[in-house]
Amino acid sequence: MAGAVLECLGKKKGLLVEAGTGVGKSFAYLIPAVLSGEKTLVSTSSLALQDQLVNKDLVFLKKTLPQKFSFGMLKGRNNYICQKREGEYEGSGKSYERFQKWLSKTKTGAKDDLTFVPKFWSEVCGDARDCTGKLCPYFSECFYYRHYRKLHKVDILVVNHYLLAYDLLSDFNVFPFHGNLIIDEASDMEDVISTVLGSSLSHSRVVWLLYRLGGLKIIVDHLFAEAESFFKKADIPSRPVFPIPYPVIEQLRKLRKKLALAKTVTTLEKQKKKALDDEQKDRIKTTKNYVKSLAEDIDDFIGQGDADRVYYMTGNVKERELTSSLVESKGAFGHLIEGYGSVVMTSATLTTEGGFAFLKKRLGIDDFAEKIVGSPFDYRKQALFYVDRNLPAPGKGNEETFNEESLDVIEGLITASRGRALVLFTSYRQLHYVAEYINIPYPFKSQGDMPHAKLIRWFKDTSNSVLLATATFWQGVDIKGDDLSLVIISRLPFSSPGDPVYQERCNRLGSRWFYELALPSAILSLRQGFGRLIRGREEYGVVAILDSRVAKSSYGKAIIASLPEVAITHSVKEVKKFFDSVSKG
Ligand code: SF4
Repeated sequence: MAGAVLECLGKKKGLLVEAGTGVGKSFAYLIPAVLSGEKTLVSTSSLALQDQLVNKDLVFLKKTLPQKFSFGMLKGRNNYICQKREGEYEGSGKSYERFQKWLSKTKTGAKDDLTFVPKFWSEVCGDARDCTGKLCPYFSECFYYRHYRKLHKVDILVVNHYLLAYDLLSDFNVFPFHGNLIIDEASDMEDVISTVLGSSLSHSRVVWLLYRLGGLKIIVDHLFAEAESFFKKADIPSRPVFPIPYPVIEQLRKLRKKLALAKTVTTLEKQKKKALDDEQKDRIKTTKNYVKSLAEDIDDFIGQGDADRVYYMTGNVKERELTSSLVESKGAFGHLIEGYGSVVMTSATLTTEGGFAFLKKRLGIDDFAEKIVGSPFDYRKQALFYVDRNLPAPGKGNEETFNEESLDVIEGLITASRGRALVLFTSYRQLHYVAEYINIPYPFKSQGDMPHAKLIRWFKDTSNSVLLATATFWQGVDIKGDDLSLVIISRLPFSSPGDPVYQERCNRLGSRWFYELALPSAILSLRQGFGRLIRGREEYGVVAILDSRVAKSSYGKAIIASLPEVAITHSVKEVKKFFDSVSKG
């Protein structure tokens, strides 16, 4: 892999490289990046992975390699205190005093240096929409920009996919250089672009603006209740609804009228003319930008007219939120990579049926070299794939029978693994059914019983625990070794129920939706599943599918052909034997 990456960087080309779990992927791209002697951006999918690359892998390479090189990490502005917003925030209380003490001493202003994160952090941290950069009165002492200026000199800069997409949004003004680009966890890129190039309307966004207007002596007190009645005292959906229903759009129209945003812009313009100092002028200017962007977004949601987007409403227990996401990311992705000399895209799982066709189609890639490096793990010994072939095929008309009969199999599998299991559903109805009737001697909880992060902590901290969740719950969840040994997937295609972006992508593909999107996505998720379950030579686990079509249909063969070489069984007894043998070994 390292040779292929080095060649790609030297020849200024594109490369797709799949490197199975355990290959040592990060070294196989970081070492060539160092040897290339050129400035390289490395993008990965999360802050945790950024930290690992910078604080572990690059630190190690710096000590080990004879080449001298420098490196750094860029996180979003929201990871730093913003002196301007902090000055505007009127805080009080113990937590605020503790924060002020920290602020008077900090040399970095970075969230990472705080031993506690105050509730009001989002009010005082940097926010791209509220930042005028060089024009800001605090620019010269700004923590974020001080850190940013140092990064111009580094050889390897580690960023994340969200920043990469924001760089595109801001006409390539986020990063200090655009030499070589290495995208790790490349399969996440499509959805990140889809989110970043979308927009959202939430209670906190409107309320934050109202506070800001209040601070500029504009009378807005009466508007807090209006915002609350739209976002909080409304019918709050328990799952995504799309398109946004007409009555909600009508309520939004009324809210827009009450907010009188055009009039507010005029008032702010008058205020700016009279402003006495730069600080006041800056505050008025950024507030005006906020008002304008809110007005534009509200109009966009009222019209739901951008054919490139899907508009939907989501809800948590307390409030509803309106969101729009880009349906197809390929155009934006093409634009994003145009400015780079060479581009390497890698991940442990990028291929389906032995090729990169799916990823290439989704992201519009056509002239990249390709390489697959298999995992060194022995999946035949370390893993088992259970495929049920006796349950009725799940589908319309026999949902109840499937739910009832699959419950026995779920219980049998969980007993074989002695808990330590994640059961993933593609329908809420089945999830609720299983949660109500499951009978196992192990502690279990369902998605929704507590907040996401708490639920994962409960699962990790509780011996032999079982978690019932929807299909995408597993993505991005890091559960190591012995805590998780069994993953049960109720049915294919393996996508979350009611995901509007996925559904709209399927709609646009018409009759091709299954073979061009649903099936390859399911294959990728399954392959990622094996990768997440087995991450060392000492780890073992079972992936189980309850959908008998995998055993009986032609596409089942494509799924099995795409998986690592793994033993397949159709018997729960064999699953028990597997767990008994590995626990003895
Ligand atoms: S330049 Fe000003 S507004 Fe921007 S992050 Fe720094 S202090 Fe905040």
